[in-house]
Amino acid sequence: MEALASFKREISSPKKIFITTHVKPDADALGSSLGLANYLIKKGHDVAVVTPSDYPSFLDWMKGTDQVLDFSNPEHIPLATLKLEQADVIFCLDFSVLERVNELGEMIRKSEAFIVNIDHHQEPENFADYRIWSTKAAATCELLYELIVDLGDKDLIDRDIAECLYAGIMTDTGGFRHPNTTKNVHLVVAELIGIGANCSQIANWIYDSNSVNRLKFIGFAISRRLVVREDLQMAYFAISKKDLKKYQSQTGDTEGLVNYALSLDGIKLAALFSEREDGIKISFRSSTEVAVNKFATTYFNGGGHKNAAGGKSMLTLKETVERFETLVDQNQEELFQNDQITTH
Ligand code: 5GP
Ligand code: MN
Repeated sequence: MEALASFKREISSPKKIFITTHVKPDADALGSSLGLANYLIKKGHDVAVVTPSDYPSFLDWMKGTDQVLDFSNPEHIPLATLKLEQADVIFCLDFSVLERVNELGEMIRKSEAFIVNIDHHQEPENFADYRIWSTKAAATCELLYELIVDLGDKDLIDRDIAECLYAGIMTDTGGFRHPNTTKNVHLVVAELIGIGANCSQIANWIYDSNSVNRLKFIGFAISRRLVVREDLQMAYFAISKKDLKKYQSQTGDTEGLVNYALSLDGIKLAALFSEREDGIKISFRSSTEVAVNKFATTYFNGGGHKNAAGGKSMLTLKETVERFETLVDQNQEELFQNDQITTH
């Protein structure tokens, strides 16, 4: 209660506010950041949104993207650093471990500012002065909507804010299909649509904005880079740096690819390995009864949700994939018959 009172006190008068979210922000990460930024600006605060990396261009329509500072862009670093140093309040959205914001993490840890963490991922690190954290929430945008309502400011949610929040909830529920699509999710999006969020337009912006290269890349990945191990109820994609270059891959182009592997009949665990400049980025997805977050945390230096997690590897692509196959084989029992790790 004391933390809540301090939080309310912190934002009760105009402050310098720094908002950040996880590396390679998705719609929930950027939508919650910009939804909050637009709300706080209306409340008279001075707000900076800083992302640890760039974000997919299909999110460019969100109000405020023109002001976002990208900490991986050398030209943005001085201003972003100044904003962090000057901040009275720092909001960390859609992540719970400081490692998820790269170099910004240690800078935030050392900051004297009041730190607020709003998130729905597993196993949070204790770095915040005030935390709104629930793994039952489908999206950080859902928690943020409830926060603004709790603060008595529902009337300040305009169409732009509603669309940012709607986008995060839509994508984190997989288009209202995942098991995290609760009654509350529908009640919240009903309110957002009532405020003016245009759901078909948002779906169009996010899901129907493929480049020809991206579509060809997906076709190539499915026909040439998909490995199906029916014996292990598992399928995965291994995408090399060369593959990404050949299709002029842009940020966000591999998003959703892993779901094609999970869509196979009889497949309960899917993975995507993509070779990046700084190692192998891994995405895991699983069917309802299989938990991938613990697997990602234990073996791939990652984390996430029960059915959608991620991690990384510093081995080569080939070595990573071999290690993954061996680990799935060795952990069959824990992976496929474990129902004690539930998040919902
Ligand atoms: P995606 O596969 O979409 O990149 O990530 C799926 C989920 O796992 C997201 O909720 C994301 O935040 C989480 N995740 C992805 N990569 C990492 C990672 O390296 N570390 C942690 N802790 N979580 C991750
Ligand atoms: Mn999220």
